[in-house]
Amino acid sequence: MSIALPKLPYAENALEPVIDAQTMGLHHGKHHNTYVTKYNEAVQGTALEGKPLREVLEKVGDAPEKIRTAVRNNGGGAFNHDLFWQWMAPKGQTGTPSAELAKAIDEAFGSMDKFKEAFAAKATGQFGSGWAWLCVKGGKLEVCSTANQDNPIMGGIGAAAGCGGEPILGLDVWEHAYYLNYQNKRPDYIKAWWDVVNWNKVSELYANAK
Ligand code: MN
Repeated sequence: MSIALPKLPYAENALEPVIDAQTMGLHHGKHHNTYVTKYNEAVQGTALEGKPLREVLEKVGDAPEKIRTAVRNNGGGAFNHDLFWQWMAPKGQTGTPSAELAKAIDEAFGSMDKFKEAFAAKATGQFGSGWAWLCVKGGKLEVCSTANQDNPIMGGIGAAAGCGGEPILGLDVWEHAYYLNYQNKRPDYIKAWWDVVNWNKVSELYANAK
């Protein structure tokens, strides 16, 4: 069985004005769809075909050398975007961090504002395309960033970037995620993005991961 493009959990214009409908439509319908298609093409007829995507990515270093880069980039892209849509919600439906998540954020970073600063520093500081992450590692919260479509769960690769553990929140800082609306102003996109962070989902993932 091949992997499929998931439906967006809301309308393309549901995150406006933070993320415009055109960006959302292209990002989901073109970029994400291409990762899905190319991943399926790469694994077709190999031992990886039909395996759960997460399992493949956790052992991406073991993928056959001929398709390893394609699996890493396109499988990572499919996995990351699947989560990214769930990490956002329309205004009014985002909820707030659970009491236990709020406590863990305070313990790890000092306050919610300091956490946002630390996360934004990773997102701004990621040179070129990549992602910023909030992870649960060894029971504690950490922020980090990876290049391209790499993910902290990728065996060896996330760790190489100083990332590991279970990502419970991630921000796409590829230009395709923000350029139509924010042009070169990545910090403005990062700042605005907090308004659509789905804390209900982040809290659920934290409860599962800790
Ligand atoms: Mn993207």
